[in-house]
Amino acid sequence: MDAEILAVGTELLMGQIANTNAQYISSRLPSVGVNVYYHSVVGDNAGRLRKCLNIALERSDVVIMTGGLGPTKDDLTKETVADVLGLKLILHEDILDKMKAYFSRTNRKMTDNNIKQAYLPENCIVINNDNGTAPGCIIEKDDKVVIMLPGPPSEMKPMFEDTVIPYFASKSQYKLASKFLRIFGIGESAMEELIMDLVENQSNPTIAPYAKEGEVTLRLTARCKTGDNVCDAEEIIKPVEEEIKRRLGDYIYSTDNKNLEEVTAELLLQNNVTIATAESCTGGLISSRLTDIPGISKVFNRGIVSYSNEAKIENLGVKRETLEKYGAVSRETAREMAEGIRNVAGTDLGLAVTGIAGPGGGTAEKPVGLVYVALADKFGVKVKELRLTGDRGKIRRITCLHAFDMIRRRILEWKENWQ
Ligand code: ATP
Ligand code: MG
Repeated sequence: MDAEILAVGTELLMGQIANTNAQYISSRLPSVGVNVYYHSVVGDNAGRLRKCLNIALERSDVVIMTGGLGPTKDDLTKETVADVLGLKLILHEDILDKMKAYFSRTNRKMTDNNIKQAYLPENCIVINNDNGTAPGCIIEKDDKVVIMLPGPPSEMKPMFEDTVIPYFASKSQYKLASKFLRIFGIGESAMEELIMDLVENQSNPTIAPYAKEGEVTLRLTARCKTGDNVCDAEEIIKPVEEEIKRRLGDYIYSTDNKNLEEVTAELLLQNNVTIATAESCTGGLISSRLTDIPGISKVFNRGIVSYSNEAKIENLGVKRETLEKYGAVSRETAREMAEGIRNVAGTDLGLAVTGIAGPGGGTAEKPVGLVYVALADKFGVKVKELRLTGDRGKIRRITCLHAFDMIRRRILEWKENWQ
């Protein structure tokens, strides 16, 4: 079945809110065999909504609408849909009772305009709303399915999960299952080159690469007939996954859609490797991301933001001559920062970052985006020089990824060779 998502709301058109409902719904539909081919957005205007709905009905089997189900005058989705489909709106006494109960439960007075929410198109499947007042509905008419859901995501999502997903799952001939391989340290095109033949010859599973900031994700999606017990999505994905792993090796940092800091933190915890960080240009971002992970206190000792030269000297023991001779952004300073924080904290690993995040402060010799990441352990210090592009925020975020990846790789080496 081919679907279109039609979001209703002038706020969306004005750029006041992002259409996260469409994103959410789109991400969930493939798992129940529904392909999304169009997203559209229209304001709270009956004429234009009618036009959009007619276009959607012409090109899609399923139209999923969100927004405009509320009690006010500008909420006109239901009235317009009923009109376009030639359906009467019927008062549902049971919905009215539920609404009354909801209002008394939440200690609010129900105003008359709320009654409009208890009217739904005749013969529709009602979607209960436990988190608000406007119910949704599924209409089946002339081989088409039109679904209406309220705009607020906190109401829309549970209704979608509890009613819409099972509705399609029961209809679908196919079920889809996806696996995500997360990749760092190789660009999208270089990676594609390595797996080009697999991508070109894909059928089941399909292979879809997409780039995120600083990293790449490969989505492998297997398709099975529902009710066919022999078909196991995992089994379909496995040989292709193994072949991709063989080619991309340790560029793949996760096969279950975890992010780099989660994977790194897990490795630190599993191997009981303690760490402390000294950050200059990232200003604490690395320690902040590490401390997002529950339980990290077992291995994360401290993080120092050593922004000034004085802090680097006083807190980390960086030599004044090093700073004078090579500068704060240099391989040598990064090395001393990493050794310094490791000594101060007495940890297995000392991680340090120093760089120029911009937009100012760059020179021909040391341009914006020049960053050094250093990792010290009992065997010595590794320093990585990065030449990053992008704005200040992006340079800082990508520096974090490199830092986590260095730790990840070091622990993997550690595991294999030193235990
Ligand atoms: P209500 O009963 O709250 O009026 P409604 O179904 O009439 O619900 P709207 O009035 O269109 O929905 O939108 C209500 C709120 O829901 C918006 O202010 C916005 O915060 C959120 N919202 C609406 N549409 C979307 C969307 N497509 N993506 C994300 N959020 C949305
Ligand atoms: Mg509304």
